[in-house]
Amino acid sequence: MTSTHKVGAIGAERPYGVLHAKEPGSAFTKCGQRAINWPVFWDRPFHAQLKGACHKCATGVRRRRGEVTADLYATNPASDAQ
Ligand SMILES: [Zn+2]
Repeated sequence: MTSTHKVGAIGAERPYGVLHAKEPGSAFTKCGQRAINWPVFWDRPFHAQLKGACHKCATGVRRRRGEVTADLYATNPASDAQ
């Protein structure tokens, strides 16, 4: 899981904003956004049912069932501003 923002105390950060899925080593989210500088939450697997999950990313993850825990979350600052 990856996000553009982190909130919470050090060691207890959590993502803020829309959640996107990103594979380890990829610079892009599943929905095609460049996420090279976004915080990545390695310990939080992406699920399509998550509140705030990106619909396109969720669709992409559902197509690859069995590898879901390899995905990461991300949030996009542009959508946070809405
Ligand atoms: Zn996405």
